[in-house]
Amino acid sequence: MQEVSAKPDNIATLSKAIREGLPQEDGVSLYVHMPFCVSKCRYCDFNSYAFTNQDLRRHVNAVLTEARLRVADLKPQTVFLGGGTPSLLPPDLLRRFLDELDTICGFRESSLETTMEANPESLDKATARAVFEGGVNRLSIGVQSLRPEVLQAYDRVHSPEGALEAFAIARDVGFRRINLDLIYAFPGQGEEEWLEDLTTIHALGAEHLSCYELSYEPGTALTRLKNVGRWKAAGEETCAAMFGITREANEAAGYEAYEVSAFAKAGEASMHNLSYWRSLDYVGIGAGAAGWLKGVRRRNIELPDTYESAIHEGADPVAVSERLSPEVVLFDHLMMGLRLPHEGVLISRAQRLSGLDPMQVHGKEIRESIDQGLLEILCDKGGDRLRTTKRGLLILDDILTRFLPDDPSMSV
Ligand code: SF4
Repeated sequence: MQEVSAKPDNIATLSKAIREGLPQEDGVSLYVHMPFCVSKCRYCDFNSYAFTNQDLRRHVNAVLTEARLRVADLKPQTVFLGGGTPSLLPPDLLRRFLDELDTICGFRESSLETTMEANPESLDKATARAVFEGGVNRLSIGVQSLRPEVLQAYDRVHSPEGALEAFAIARDVGFRRINLDLIYAFPGQGEEEWLEDLTTIHALGAEHLSCYELSYEPGTALTRLKNVGRWKAAGEETCAAMFGITREANEAAGYEAYEVSAFAKAGEASMHNLSYWRSLDYVGIGAGAAGWLKGVRRRNIELPDTYESAIHEGADPVAVSERLSPEVVLFDHLMMGLRLPHEGVLISRAQRLSGLDPMQVHGKEIRESIDQGLLEILCDKGGDRLRTTKRGLLILDDILTRFLPDDPSMSV
């Protein structure tokens, strides 16, 4: 491989947020999806549904049945219970679910990090205690905004005070590792206002922050409002400025920007999410859950009812299962790995995973991107790494389009 630019360094010392050697390359992670929420947020395109008295026990039983079929003795190295809003389940049901899941796959002993997503309106003390005692050791709380009018505009059902209270409950119960999710670039949001909110958040002392730019995904209520002129999105320049000040403010408060939207104190990077960004194996169970295992990508049936029916009929609830082409594996690996500005993509590993040498397949695009100051190659003792520069992070989606394989179904 031709060396395009070199900066001798040791990757192990590049990120303080990421624990060295974790998660392990040969481990497997487990994602569990619980699809119900109190109501549907206007910006949300996740596989989530407003709770209208669906039978939660029947749904949990279906997920456990799938677990018995697909993850028996899995011994996952990380677990993520996401959604939807898992904290919406009653505490006794959550505890039973965790007990049975542990009997099935042994996560309490094997998992380095077991995270559950929670929203302020449903994270009461009984729920927090049930999951803490059930083996969850990290909570991810959906704060999103500290402005009541913004929460209202998103159709979220909690208040800013409710979010702060949820954080206090989590700490009180014993959670030592907490992530807070936040969204910026609300129309008209000023930089001062956002910095003020970040200062309040920093004072809480959570170990991890996820700060996302408000996005307009196809099919969401917000996108429909925007399309008919009833919602004016923040402009590109504003979003770029907010991205910059978010990074600066978080870093000044001791949170390293170890991924495009993820910030962590030393050693507090999310191991589960790192397994996605590093293209490690993971199994997904639950309605609409995706997985990536030994080169096969799989996604379950999305609709909770249809998912449950498939399980109760003894069928595999799979919607899509496909062995990816080498070109798609390489693209997916670049798409995920280039989100990590410190370690980027180890070129030899990309080749091992996909069977293709990225420098041969995309040498021209890589060199152009390096000349434009968007990517760089770092010579590390473990091998050469391709990584995104600070400038490149701002337009990562544009950079990635340069590596799109000739597959009409692919988009960034
Ligand atoms: S709470 Fe989360 S998953 Fe549920 S609708 Fe809102 S953003 Fe989507």
